Amino acid sequence: MYDIAIIGAGPAGVSAAINAKILNKSYIWLASRPVSKKVERAELIKNYPGLPDVTGEQLAFVFKHHAESMGIQLTEGVVTGVYDLGGRFALLADNRDFEARTVILCLGVEAAKPLEGEEEFLGRGISYCATCDGALYRGKNIAVVCTDKRFEHEIEYLCSLAAGCTVFPMYRDYEIKAQNAKIVLKNPIRYEGDTRVRRVVLKDGALDTDGVFILKSAISPATLVHGLRVEEGHIVVDRSCATNIAGIFAAGDCTGRPYQYVKAAGEGNVAAHSAAEYIANLK
Ligand SMILES: Cc1cc2nc3c(=O)[nH]c(=O)nc-3n(C[C@H](O)[C@H](O)[C@H](O)COP(=O)(O)OP(=O)(O)OC[C@H]3O[C@@H](n4cnc5c(N)ncnc54)[C@H](O)[C@@H]3O)c2cc1C
Repeated sequence: MYDIAIIGAGPAGVSAAINAKILNKSYIWLASRPVSKKVERAELIKNYPGLPDVTGEQLAFVFKHHAESMGIQLTEGVVTGVYDLGGRFALLADNRDFEARTVILCLGVEAAKPLEGEEEFLGRGISYCATCDGALYRGKNIAVVCTDKRFEHEIEYLCSLAAGCTVFPMYRDYEIKAQNAKIVLKNPIRYEGDTRVRRVVLKDGALDTDGVFILKSAISPATLVHGLRVEEGHIVVDRSCATNIAGIFAAGDCTGRPYQYVKAAGEGNVAAHSAAEYIANLK
């Protein structure tokens, strides 16, 4: 079991990982991609102390280099669930599980809110994890909503199991190599069902389905952690970055505005110190 599990590789997550290491805590650092897109994509950053006129690509490079130079390794994976086991937490990421005494959520903010029905039918026909739940849909008809080309191998895996696979790629340049994949270039607007999900509703019709896989790199905090207090899309924290769940801390954009690199890095630092203090008080 790790002392700290850190989720996210933006400035908040990088800072939390660096400080966890400095504080001599054991940690697992998980993120859906090696560096946050929001760091890589910035054209020119003028408000990062010590690095005037740095580009996003340069900042991403120095973040990566800083972590690597300290021997800090990132484990790539989308965390689809954080479960409170009483005094410790289990995290599920791409069919692997990890245990930690504390968790630091550095999730950033999602651009897109979950669709109507998504949270309601999660675990009842809707899944975020192809490798965890794919086998349940062998020989069935499924829909796959995918937001990122990086997950295409998961679409192909799902298509290899299902009888029919309707794919909604939410990006350009898709290349899905599966004979039974039917590509639909329309946006789902909600999910409907009864005890389970039954339909993907589009603007001009609906698709009946046995299951829906939603492959995306970020999941809303309230869905990720049952019982987490979230207000207007932001995780509620105090000045120590503690959430309403003892042992879970949060840092960066996911805790609220301003959405800024320095605020995120600062909170990552605070959260790591608070997690270490929390662990010390457990003993
Ligand atoms: C184009 C652009 C330009 C910007 N310019 C500036 C600027 O000049 N100055 C400034 O201060 N700010 C700027 N910002 C804002 C800045 O990017 C954000 O405030 C900052 O990146 C927030 O850091 P964060 O660590 O909180 O989250 P993010 O950087 O968003 O990182 C979130 C991380 O969490 C991971 N993640 C989320 N959910 C999961 C999950 N379930 N499982 C695994 N991993 C997960 C993501 O993959 C990502 O690694 C800009 C933003 C954009 C988009």
